[in-house]
Amino acid sequence: MSLYSFAKDAAKVAKDAGNIELYSQILEIQERALELQSENEILKKEIEELKDKAQIENSLYIKGHFYYREMHGEIYGPYCTVCWDNNNKLIRAHVRTNLHGRNIAHCHVCNFSSTYLG
Ligand SMILES: [Zn+2]
Repeated sequence: MSLYSFAKDAAKVAKDAGNIELYSQILEIQERALELQSENEILKKEIEELKDKAQIENSLYIKGHFYYREMHGEIYGPYCTVCWDNNNKLIRAHVRTNLHGRNIAHCHVCNFSSTYLG
């Protein structure tokens, strides 16, 4: 039984017994239980996000000015170092060949670009 449900049942008992002071105190507990439940959900979500971030960070390695990621024996990337370092957003950079025949990786989110080392 959740704290909220327990407080709800206790509030009913206090109300039926005609103890208004106890009833109002239990209602406050009930309200606080709801706040804690909501806070708990937010904290759980933050923990999941931190776990995800740590998992990504552990799989990243840097080559040139871009991150790459190895997962299940496959190499993914290049990913923008600016976007990850600033916002923890894993943004894949697009590789194109410029007029001088050099491969350039470019992030379409922050416009960072640099030589692509493959
Ligand atoms: Zn970027």
